[in-house]
Amino acid sequence: MRGGKSPKRSNRIRTFLTVTLVILVGLALVGGNINKDGLKKEDEIPFSTLVDDVNNNRVSKIKEDGQKLLITQKNEDKPSKFAILPTGASAKEQGLDISKVEYTAKNQSNSNSTAIDLIINIALPVLIFVGFFYFIARQAGNQGNQAAMFGKSKAKLYGADKKKVKFDDIAGNDNAKQDLSEVVEFLKFPKRFKQLGAKIPKGVLLVGDPGTGKTMLAKAVAGEADVPFFSISGSEFVEMFVGVGASRVRDLFAKAKKNAPCIIFIDEIDAVGRRRGSGTGGGHDEREQTLNQILVEMDGFEGGENVIVLAATNRADVLDPALLRPGRFDRRVHIPLPERPDRQAILNVHFEGKPLDSNVDLAALSKKTAGMSGADLANLANESAIIAARRKSKTIQNNDVTEAFERVAIGPERKNSPMTDKDKEITAYHEGGHALVGHVLPNSDPIHKITILPRGGAAGITWSLPQDDKHHQSAKDIKDLLAQALGGRVAEEVIYGESNINTGASNDLMKVTSIARSYVVEYGMSKKLKNLAFKEEAHPYDTSGMMAGGHTQYSGKTAEIIDEEVQKLVDEATERARKVIVANHKYLDTLKDELIKKETLDEDEVNKILQDAKAPKEVLLN
Ligand code: ADP
Repeated sequence: MRGGKSPKRSNRIRTFLTVTLVILVGLALVGGNINKDGLKKEDEIPFSTLVDDVNNNRVSKIKEDGQKLLITQKNEDKPSKFAILPTGASAKEQGLDISKVEYTAKNQSNSNSTAIDLIINIALPVLIFVGFFYFIARQAGNQGNQAAMFGKSKAKLYGADKKKVKFDDIAGNDNAKQDLSEVVEFLKFPKRFKQLGAKIPKGVLLVGDPGTGKTMLAKAVAGEADVPFFSISGSEFVEMFVGVGASRVRDLFAKAKKNAPCIIFIDEIDAVGRRRGSGTGGGHDEREQTLNQILVEMDGFEGGENVIVLAATNRADVLDPALLRPGRFDRRVHIPLPERPDRQAILNVHFEGKPLDSNVDLAALSKKTAGMSGADLANLANESAIIAARRKSKTIQNNDVTEAFERVAIGPERKNSPMTDKDKEITAYHEGGHALVGHVLPNSDPIHKITILPRGGAAGITWSLPQDDKHHQSAKDIKDLLAQALGGRVAEEVIYGESNINTGASNDLMKVTSIARSYVVEYGMSKKLKNLAFKEEAHPYDTSGMMAGGHTQYSGKTAEIIDEEVQKLVDEATERARKVIVANHKYLDTLKDELIKKETLDEDEVNKILQDAKAPKEVLLN
């Protein structure tokens, strides 16, 4: 459709014109102010020279302009030089014979021009300045889609109009609910606690992975206690100018105190609450000021206010220790990823009101979804409904749920990605290698599915699913996992030869390296560094947690041993994968053929093809 200007676009044009106008007017005025008398620095003469010139009748007019004396010389019609009055005393008092020239003193100058000067020199620049800031503030307000002045917190107030969230709306999370029900009691019956001399906590840290329901829990505390709920995200404190964060904190706490009893919820507190002194530059200064202000405000609570601050993070380890001191966030509530019964409960909540076909088994789905958060499960339910609706079905079928599950877990299928026959063959051998090694090694999880259709960012996928939620991994589990992860690269090597291996294995190799390193430095499972765990602290300038080069607790020699042990572990796993693949070459070929034909094989199909495949004795671990 061809159309006129959209409102957004005309807004942008208006914004652009306003900015241009403000800048042009500003430049014109500032420029005019500097060159008002048309004199430059080089035109200055010493005051003593002026006295001489006047005494020798070389000057016709002098005009005072503040401390500046504008000099018009004989035979000239406008000032061409200037001198500066050495002190605040009048020119006459400083030895200038003004009777010899036409002298205009400051207070004799025309009163209109003084008013204009005043406007030009003071009022207009102030007006421009104020206008500029008003403009930026409006922009900020537009961005946040709410009235936001600089120092005003953008905290959102919930609960007044909306349906309040209650603990019953949250499936599972029983321990967290129990811990937080105490906070509800504090808010509801503060006197009961104060009578006995108990101090009411000021801050509670909710620690858990994204999507585990921290925000929901905080809202439910407010809902249960029937108090207002102010929420702001740590990143909103630090998004704009230096000094804004701290004043937003002040504003937020002031609002909260006015509405007490109430809850303040700071999401992603790690955005402002990272350890101080771990960096330089404006961004960090701003963050530190904001953090300091939070500490000041929390210390300022007398306890009588009855405002409780809940803060959420998934990186409690990076928080500044000052935040965790008594009287601040001294309570912690852990919110883990849901276990199987909780996953089933969450699925029940989110599939409620969605018509399910009788072939959908939510209990089986809860088993498959180990490692998913509440938000993932909510997303899964929604995706299932969307997929079913796209099929124009009246009910959600098992296939819709399976498709949604795969989409949420690994990203959507990219059905239209072109693949050459050679690419297909390489991918089929690669995925077949993972599946074969995983299938025959006893400590690997069962293969759920293999596909050579690109999905998410991968060319193909071999998908193993644990039988149930696992809380511990043994050294054997890790070794078999490494061999399975290397199975793809090794299959390519066995089939095409060492010089024809492909780049597609890089993700596998990153996973392998990271697991092998954890085996050595975190779990103390390697022979040479047995029962030792080394904490590797993040790089001091690291805000992402991903930078290398952080502080280590071990010597250079130990670092070398770590590297050797990691390499040895990976070499052993590579060798075991090779032996499995060489011994079961014909099954790998069948897997490849079937994959090229069908593109996707499910658990039963894989099991059928590999039913006679066996691991050679020497690769089995004791
Ligand atoms: P977090 O703050 O931990 O990132 P949220 O509280 O924002 O997570 O949760 C995101 C969404 O996930 C919620 O809106 C809800 O739909 C869903 N969810 C998470 N945990 C649960 C749960 N225990 N019960 C029901 N829904 C949940």
